[in-house]
Amino acid sequence: MPRIEPPVTPLAEPYWEATRPEEPVAQRCGSCDGFVWYPREACPHCLSADLRWEPLAGTGTIYTFNVMRKPGNPMMGDEVPYVVGLVDLDEGIRMTTNIVGADPSSLRCDQRVAVDWSEELSDGRRLPVFRPADD
Ligand SMILES: [Zn+2]
Repeated sequence: MPRIEPPVTPLAEPYWEATRPEEPVAQRCGSCDGFVWYPREACPHCLSADLRWEPLAGTGTIYTFNVMRKPGNPMMGDEVPYVVGLVDLDEGIRMTTNIVGADPSSLRCDQRVAVDWSEELSDGRRLPVFRPADD
């Protein structure tokens, strides 16, 4: 079963285009300097519309995670067990993602992770996932 791929909306297009050269980005507010995730029209901290795209380090820590032993969607049936996690990026935003590249039983909260670009979508975009980092 083919994977359901996230659509590209006008608001999120800069984010998706940056995945092609494997550059993680997020919006940042020009008024309060806060990072914003997910893409929005206005800053959730101060409501300013002065948002710009900035590069991210691509590193963070696992806030929490679930090991999926039954697929949450039939398209993931061949992937079990797989990990759905919340990752706190070093810039202060929390991203829902998959954690790959490790035995799920070896993962722990607060573990350092780094972005992994191995998941390519049908149109050449990449789906950023995370894997345990060495640091
Ligand atoms: Zn702001």
